Amino acid sequence: MGSKTDGIDGRAGGDSGVGSLFRFCPACASPRIQFLGSGNNPPRRWVCPDCGFQYYHNVAASAGVVIGTDKGILLIERAKEPRAGSYTLPGGFVDPGEGAEEAALRECFEEIGWAPETMHYLGSYANSYRYAGVTYSTCDTFYWAEPANLGGIQFRLDPVESSRVLFVQAEAVPWNAISFESTRRAIRGYLEMKNVERKGRSRPGDS
Ligand SMILES: [Zn+2]
Repeated sequence: MGSKTDGIDGRAGGDSGVGSLFRFCPACASPRIQFLGSGNNPPRRWVCPDCGFQYYHNVAASAGVVIGTDKGILLIERAKEPRAGSYTLPGGFVDPGEGAEEAALRECFEEIGWAPETMHYLGSYANSYRYAGVTYSTCDTFYWAEPANLGGIQFRLDPVESSRVLFVQAEAVPWNAISFESTRRAIRGYLEMKNVERKGRSRPGDS
């Protein structure tokens, strides 16, 4: 999801090769900088034994929203590489100082020129993104919204980011063309939630 990424390496978390990124300490230029874990935790911090420099390659946060309508779920077709032509949900990385809800709504405005007035928490999923040769482990938070009337809305797409907005029904979701694993899981989570609701409503004799 979002545009600041160039793909997914198929793993959720882990070292992902980032340990070899720095050959020298960025503070003192020592070649002895190390990428370390602690306890059972996977490596995520660089430590320089010569000057004490430490830097954590922490998990990055992103946020997105599943917009459900009578016409189906709103998807955006990505206009740019990586994965141009694949489909994603409105969303992207959380900015410094921002909450996940704010980020989801801001990205929505940026990407389609509109955002829902109310949305609800759906879930969060671990993911990893590769950008410019660096793999970032992420925690992707998703919300869902079912706006009453989308009929009159003119979506305003950022042509650099998005080719078009489309709506797909549950049985027509192009699973293999969804940009990221966390996006697939969010859509699945939303559809499962709707299924449970539907089954609950149609149970005969229930009060
Ligand atoms: Zn150093």
